[in-house]
Amino acid sequence: MRQGGNGIPAVTLVIIGTLIFGFIIWQNTRPEAPTRVIVPTEIQPATEVNAWQVILEQGFGSDSTPLPTIGIPTAPFVPPTLPIETESALLPAQTLSAFDAAQVTPFIGATPTPPLPTAPVIETVIPLTQIYVTQPPQSWQPPPLIPPLSRDLLGRDHYWMQRPIDSNANNRGLFYYPYGSDGPEGENYRIHAGIDMPNQIGEPVRAAGSGTVVWAADGLRTSGGAFQDTYSYGNVVVIQHDFGYRGRSVFTLYAHLALVNVVPGQRVETGDVVGLVGNTGRVTGPHVHFEVRLGDAGSSSVPHYANTYNPALWMVPYVGTGVIAGRVTNASGQLVMDADVTVRSRATGQVVSTTTTYIYQNSGVDVNADPEWQENFVIGDVPVGRHEVVADIGGQRVSVIVNVVEGTTTFVELSPSTTPTNDGGS
Ligand SMILES: [Zn+2]
Repeated sequence: MRQGGNGIPAVTLVIIGTLIFGFIIWQNTRPEAPTRVIVPTEIQPATEVNAWQVILEQGFGSDSTPLPTIGIPTAPFVPPTLPIETESALLPAQTLSAFDAAQVTPFIGATPTPPLPTAPVIETVIPLTQIYVTQPPQSWQPPPLIPPLSRDLLGRDHYWMQRPIDSNANNRGLFYYPYGSDGPEGENYRIHAGIDMPNQIGEPVRAAGSGTVVWAADGLRTSGGAFQDTYSYGNVVVIQHDFGYRGRSVFTLYAHLALVNVVPGQRVETGDVVGLVGNTGRVTGPHVHFEVRLGDAGSSSVPHYANTYNPALWMVPYVGTGVIAGRVTNASGQLVMDADVTVRSRATGQVVSTTTTYIYQNSGVDVNADPEWQENFVIGDVPVGRHEVVADIGGQRVSVIVNVVEGTTTFVELSPSTTPTNDGGS
């Protein structure tokens, strides 16, 4: 039993109770502090740098430098001359060993090393004023044939892709930087893993075939070698197509986009707009860089950079044109690298196209020959008819006459050991 004698005096309890009650009353009658309203006056920068945003701002911000003009040739058509008429016009003789792999000028940045901010810009650095324009300006392209197309009687052709750009813009590959080349004479660009179609920013880029989008972001967001030096590609879309080839999956890639119009996992049909032509990544002017890659069966990840193939053997030719693919080899049967190959019409005598043979660097990310053709050069968009294909093999001129048929591949072997020269060459 508790008695007041030993406990807290009743008066003290009353005082304490009164104080607590009073405090509660005071708390509840006090005017409330005004609610703080935070008005966002500016977007706070994310702690993580969004490189894509930076790239876009650099390209389109009010302080950006004027967009460079590139690529759509405007100079008058000046066909290159071929050294066929006189002895003196022949190129200086070289020994065939001059084309050994070891003789190829070392290439900066070919190995997939981590990207360096200060790395030299080497892809598509095209000083246009120095370019010898040998093709006429094209404001409108001929209509392409309808893909998928395989007219070869032995089923070897796989022109299954639509051109990624419409025919009222430039859907012709830049001839002086074809697949497997290091750019114009005297230049030392990255060996080209695709083809370039220079166009104005904003030109729609379309799916070359039906399939599923497996990549739709900037190349900075990946590793594993899918985009090699990841600065190069800018904003990229990769489509895995519904069809395969020889048990492998088939992909197309569209790079340097200003805007990406699709998301990973999205289904696209042939011709759907997947993005817009831009100049993101390493470029000096807006264009779409178009690639074809073959991947492992069943894998939907973007195939490694080392799995590209020449798009000119996958993209439908124009109406009235065909494709010449071939092998340029030396007397020992070895592939000759970086050799000039020119096509001249037998009907008109005009040079209709020119290219160079693939350069292999044994770097682990080399370009690849088609599994069927084993070519080391391709010239697309050749008008149908009879043509002379001329190769410069170590200074020796070798030529073969071929018939080009619409929508098919004409294959040609060019070698000094199998083809007699028809002029004064030694
Ligand atoms: Zn390119």
